Amino acid sequence: MELLYNNIFLEHETGSHPENKKRLDAFKHLPNTHYPNAKEWLSLVHTETYIQQVEKACADGKWLDMDTITSAHSFLAATAGVGLAMRAMEEKAFAIMRPPGHHAYPDKASGFCLFNSVAIVAQYLVNDGKKVLIFDFDGHLGDGTEAIFYNTDKVLFWSLHQYPAFPGNGYVNEIGTGAGKGYSINIPLPSGSGDDIFLKAIQEFMPIAEQFKPDVVAVSAGFDAHLYDILLGLRVTGSTYYKIGAMLKERFDHVFAILEGGYNLEYMPKSVHNFLAGFNGRPIPFEEVPTTSGWKVWEGFDMDLQALFSQLAPYWKL
Ligand SMILES: [Zn+2]
Repeated sequence: MELLYNNIFLEHETGSHPENKKRLDAFKHLPNTHYPNAKEWLSLVHTETYIQQVEKACADGKWLDMDTITSAHSFLAATAGVGLAMRAMEEKAFAIMRPPGHHAYPDKASGFCLFNSVAIVAQYLVNDGKKVLIFDFDGHLGDGTEAIFYNTDKVLFWSLHQYPAFPGNGYVNEIGTGAGKGYSINIPLPSGSGDDIFLKAIQEFMPIAEQFKPDVVAVSAGFDAHLYDILLGLRVTGSTYYKIGAMLKERFDHVFAILEGGYNLEYMPKSVHNFLAGFNGRPIPFEEVPTTSGWKVWEGFDMDLQALFSQLAPYWKL
């Protein structure tokens, strides 16, 4: 797995907002990867009205909601992100990009996200007859992605996230609807959850991901569950991201990743490199001392885990 990058993403100007262009400083030395024109793919998940609304807001430099800033070239950058995500899918690569996408709904911007890149690529694959696992280990729920695929069994959406936290939903009882029942897996993590809980949450549900037999695995790779991230209270270290990379490589043939959140300017890039090294079978570049969760945190996690098992038992072998 290689990193794909383009300096077009620096054109999305957000000033001193936590989601700003400094997040990509550590990747600026990478060559500019060519990306396909993605404008026609936006409507795979977004409404035409919304696409036009975003284009106009960017031209006017208006905010799309109280968290989501735009600037003159934001439409260009967000569309380029979709293009680079598509290229990452084709090349089994990791797209280093911004703005992130997983909070974006078909008709609504949210949580710093304009277009839902991972959902657009997944829908493109579904239209091609493929089954897609979206594994979202960003510390927030990818609520836009979840909503987009809530009633389909062609996409398994699996998210680990702090709960309660932004965007508010993502509890264990959200398992999908209609044909999609059992195909949304929400693992709520109490604030204070460390490496031990994060890894257990992955190990317990990996059997479902394998039973689903996805043709493609799309990783919404956000790194704001990290101990030193500024937005959340999770306590995951970079060593865990290394292990996640290795676990995915061991189990699946076609994996690609796109950058979602991660706001610590030092530890987000280190975590990306750890994930990549784990996936590529190289030694860990930035080892950290593992964190353990307190008993109270474990107690809350275990209760939710049992509740989630009983929600999913009718649909999967656990
Ligand atoms: Zn996030």
